[in-house]
Amino acid sequence: MVQFHPTALAVDLDPMPLVSEAVRGEGAILVNENGEWILKNPLAARDVVSRAEWAALQAGHKVFLDARQEPGDRFAELFPAINAIAQRVGLNPATDLLPVRPAAHYHMGGVLVDTQGQSSVPGLFAAGEVASTGLHGANRLASNSLLEAVVCGRGVAQHLKGVYSAQNTLPDVPGRGWADEKWHPAEPVIARIRGIVSQGAGVLRDAEGLTEALEGLRPYLDDDTGLVGYLVAWSALQRLESRGGHTRTDHPLTAAEPAHTLVSFADLEARSAA
Ligand SMILES: Cc1cc2nc3c(=O)[nH]c(=O)nc-3n(C[C@H](O)[C@H](O)[C@H](O)COP(=O)(O)OP(=O)(O)OC[C@H]3O[C@@H](n4cnc5c(N)ncnc54)[C@H](O)[C@@H]3O)c2cc1C
Repeated sequence: MVQFHPTALAVDLDPMPLVSEAVRGEGAILVNENGEWILKNPLAARDVVSRAEWAALQAGHKVFLDARQEPGDRFAELFPAINAIAQRVGLNPATDLLPVRPAAHYHMGGVLVDTQGQSSVPGLFAAGEVASTGLHGANRLASNSLLEAVVCGRGVAQHLKGVYSAQNTLPDVPGRGWADEKWHPAEPVIARIRGIVSQGAGVLRDAEGLTEALEGLRPYLDDDTGLVGYLVAWSALQRLESRGGHTRTDHPLTAAEPAHTLVSFADLEARSAA
């Protein structure tokens, strides 16, 4: 599942900068191009606000964060970093509407691990956002991902220390080691994958859009980003309910019993062959 942050500044920067929710905490509101409120409670949870914005965008509206009244003139003092970014793209939050949109922000789910970070692949451990520990459920409260990364990372380290310190060596796993250079995805491919996933597996999902996304992503399964997008769309298609950050317009209710959606490479190979 994906948590969408409701207020990415919709300007020509990649990644789009985030406008903190604290700005709405100081009184800023979300409006369309006619000045009408996008939702009654601008302080609602991230998934609620993102859905309201996405629905407005899909209906052809524009969405803005209006900080002109509140925090108004206090903006630059309260939020100097956001103010500096806005000014860089020619916007003054005290006098201009800020164009915003939901943006993919956090993955709830990922590589399934046990409490010691061990995946089903011998010698492969995962901690942090990439891991599926179940700690966040279907949504995430703001700011606790770093806690998870630190706590679970420490757990993995302690486990490995206990297991391997006697042997003074790590297990012999093919491919083990550090990448020589910082990992760089191919930009044009990323842009294509981003478009497909955003359209079909974004804030509001249904079977038709998810199936189209899977078809669109099939040529990109050799690419890490394409594969992750495929897994997100695949899992979303299997989940016939709405829960937390995952909203199916064709399955709006929440199932009585929560359940994990597990997908393995064998599932993918079977589907690719179909
Ligand atoms: C704008 C923004 C604001 C946020 N604010 C907060 C906040 O206030 N509080 C909070 O708790 N969380 C926040 N989060 C979420 C939090 O930052 C992340 O969940 C957290 O940083 C994840 O840490 P990580 O170490 O698991 O992964 P990452 O920080 O993503 O580290 C993964 C690393 O692996 C590298 N990598 C990827 N693929 C490869 C490869 N194939 N080979 C080699 N290297 C590779 C990447 O380059 C990266 O350096 C925010 C996220 C964003 C985007």
